[in-house]
Amino acid sequence: MHTYAHSMPHFDLFFKTEELRQRLEPHLRLIPPFFEFTVRTGTPEVRYFDQKDPMWKGFPFPVPDGAVYVFDDAIPARALGGGMQNRASVRVRREDTDDEVLILRIWHEILHAVGQPADDMTPLAGEWQSVSDRLIWAAWQSLSRSVDVPLWHRKFYTWLTERAASGAGGR
Ligand SMILES: [Zn+2]
Repeated sequence: MHTYAHSMPHFDLFFKTEELRQRLEPHLRLIPPFFEFTVRTGTPEVRYFDQKDPMWKGFPFPVPDGAVYVFDDAIPARALGGGMQNRASVRVRREDTDDEVLILRIWHEILHAVGQPADDMTPLAGEWQSVSDRLIWAAWQSLSRSVDVPLWHRKFYTWLTERAASGAGGR
């Protein structure tokens, strides 16, 4: 039995379509149980960021507290996800065929939503990596391979989740 010191975040996780839900819901167990979900099908109330910003053009972001929205609309925005203030939104593109990558994208954005520095995998490497991670990471980089892969994301997000659970770094 694992108990967490910090209060556990609960999200209403909306999949826009039943198809998206059936595809991704079975993989949610990749995300540690610190994050609790009530899974729904449909669209929460959404708002839009600055429509002149090509990063966010047409990108829907949930309004209700605790809502996470996963959608597959073809929109002009460059962003694949956003998370802040206990809300997150994740986009699934036609070319996103790897379900694990999509779950990691959800995990990334809900870490943002609870105030964790989900973009800082590299600057925080000295804090989250084990000795063996450091060796593999160095070899990886010497081969000029991108570190933005599920192996590293999973390790980093696991560490960030434990960090959130301990009450550190949240807003
Ligand atoms: Zn991010």
